[in-house]
Amino acid sequence: MDASTQTIAAALLGWYDANARTLPWRSPPGSPPPDPYRVWLSEVMLQQTTVAAVGPYFARFTTRWPTVEALAAADEAEVMAAWAGLGYYARARNLIACAKAVAARGGVFPGTEAELRALPGLGAYTAAAVAAIAFEQRAVVVDANVERVVARLFAIDEPLPGARKAIRARADAITPHSRAGDFAQAMMDLGSGVCTVRAPRCLLCPLSHACAGRAAGAERFPVKPLKAAKPQRRGRAFWIEQGGAVWLVRRGGTGMLAGMRALPDDGWSARGDGAGEAPLPDAAWANGGAVRHGFTHFDLDLQLMLYSGSDWVSFPSDAGEWWPLDQLETAGLPTLFAKAAQLAMAQKE
Ligand code: SF4
Repeated sequence: MDASTQTIAAALLGWYDANARTLPWRSPPGSPPPDPYRVWLSEVMLQQTTVAAVGPYFARFTTRWPTVEALAAADEAEVMAAWAGLGYYARARNLIACAKAVAARGGVFPGTEAELRALPGLGAYTAAAVAAIAFEQRAVVVDANVERVVARLFAIDEPLPGARKAIRARADAITPHSRAGDFAQAMMDLGSGVCTVRAPRCLLCPLSHACAGRAAGAERFPVKPLKAAKPQRRGRAFWIEQGGAVWLVRRGGTGMLAGMRALPDDGWSARGDGAGEAPLPDAAWANGGAVRHGFTHFDLDLQLMLYSGSDWVSFPSDAGEWWPLDQLETAGLPTLFAKAAQLAMAQKE
């Protein structure tokens, strides 16, 4: 490590000692590392989500399932329902698979980055973060915050995603051999509170002495790729209400929102043209308005159809269930269908 990279680590750790955020999954700077289960759980939850949004979920999960073995033994539908609202449901399924794999090892997480990487659903980032934070291993932890700080510190001109290689190499060069967990968390804190996406607070930054991007206009780093428009899909969801209950189905085991409880729909996740089949093909439907929702790879325009027939309808009992309207919030509907349900309920008021 050369002198300037050493100064960066030392300055950042000094700042972290005085400014670390207090978070329920963390240990204070310089103290023994937290329980790997809590580190892993928080890191999986925090992907694509804010600290503020994760807080209540983390508290609920750790109260209900205080150990990785408890989570591994939990009813999967219950875990999926508790996850509802955090989005990216494949992560919840991987969470369960990973908990089972760790429980099979006696409930002990492996302590190296390479072994962690081999667990279900642990990508390069999560494996590095858990190795550094829970096991104090030197690991190069690069999330979106760290990416931004490093791109600015070294004024990396290449656009993303191509710049990731250079960013990683620079992040590696400034990662110290001791206090790797504190260093990783310090970079995350700096990125979220000081070197922010807009209006970075360079005057308060412990790294301003070493920052090449500051003089060049920090906000232009990291250099963004040209944005391709997301494809637009259309679909329909169906609100069938009778006797104070609504008909909910369980989505299939693969594909979008797999395994989640949902309103019946026209199969938009497969075709996306809004012309799929209704659950009661001959019934009368009223237009209940539209819900817009952004998924990672497409935007969905979901038309809500309200059953307006006068006939009492029935479905095979293994196709779904009648859910009482006054307990709808306990159904664990994913955000898309929760929005559609809110729209339907608003029309009753
Ligand atoms: Fe970010 Fe400014 Fe600090 Fe550079 S000086 S790392 S741009 S906050």
